[in-house]
Amino acid sequence: MGISFFGLIIVVGLAVIFGLVKGISAMLGLFKSAQGGHAMLACPTCGQQTSHANGRCDACGAEL
Ligand SMILES: [Zn+2]
Repeated sequence: MGISFFGLIIVVGLAVIFGLVKGISAMLGLFKSAQGGHAMLACPTCGQQTSHANGRCDACGAEL
């Protein structure tokens, strides 16, 4: 009885930890994708929407 009780606690604990890790990594993935290469900003030089991944405006080539 004792072994199955602790086994159940371990299984539930692992499931909770697994769920937390999955949730945290999903949240981090969302956060990363919100900040990452898909983020667009308006170029201060020409006003075009551009990705700041390469540090330069895609439209006019000015430094961002
Ligand atoms: Zn520009």
